[in-house]
Amino acid sequence: MSQETMLQTRGLTRRFGGLVAVNDVDFDVKTGEIHAILGPNGAGKSTLINLLSGELPPSSGEILYQGQPIHGKPARQIARMGIGRSHQKTNIFPRLSCLQNCELAARIHMGGVFGSWRSGQRAREVNEKALQVLETCQLVHQAYTPASAMSYGEQRQLQIAMVLATSPSLMLLDEPMAGMGHEETAQVTELLKALSDQYTLVLIEHDMDSVFRLADRITVMVDGCVLESGPTEQIRRSEKVQDVYLGRHHQEASA
Ligand code: ADP
Ligand code: MG
Repeated sequence: MSQETMLQTRGLTRRFGGLVAVNDVDFDVKTGEIHAILGPNGAGKSTLINLLSGELPPSSGEILYQGQPIHGKPARQIARMGIGRSHQKTNIFPRLSCLQNCELAARIHMGGVFGSWRSGQRAREVNEKALQVLETCQLVHQAYTPASAMSYGEQRQLQIAMVLATSPSLMLLDEPMAGMGHEETAQVTELLKALSDQYTLVLIEHDMDSVFRLADRITVMVDGCVLESGPTEQIRRSEKVQDVYLGRHHQEASA
């Protein structure tokens, strides 16, 4: 794995009124890695992703992507620079087919004017891209199924396909396995593992088995701050993390 830094934040902070949701966060992602973000609910994980993707502007601090500052740039522009993201809540178009959902994602990313003489060519490119990502996510057999008619797990998989359709270099995935059963979780874990050959992944996930199987490095957040960040083994063994997060998580799970 390359040790080159793809993305880094310095002193990244986001306030909502009096609440500091992301508090002075230094975070870095290396090219080719799977970097998991762990932390209890309300820790600021989704807000961090929203800052990285440009959906929220930071209150202060910097974000560098491939060495260039991107804080303050609009989300659309950041997406075009190669940062793709999925949301914690499913946001697909339920009445459109799987294929149409992916075509839309690809189309938004490619941008441009579709009424031009190149529109036929463009439509073919979009269609090819959509089919290709459905293939990758093992959803080709559902290409013409309305998204609403698929299982919840397949809808979550479609969301990953839609991120892929935007041709990202870096994928930010906010709880891609949330609400999935054991088998579906295992399936998506393998999909993400396969994608990591080609993409750099930042993953928010609560399923510890998946995180430990997938992540090269882990950053643990608590109350908007980074508690600890490091290689997966280091985090797994960290007493600080076990006390503050894994311990609490365990108690909640067994309560
Ligand atoms: P996590 O994803 O780790 O569960 P979030 O980033 O969603 O945490 O939230 C962190 C904190 O910021 C929470 O206290 C949440 O209520 C608050 N928060 C998140 N988004 C907003 C918002 N748009 N407006 C006000 N408060 C918010
Ligand atoms: Mg969240």
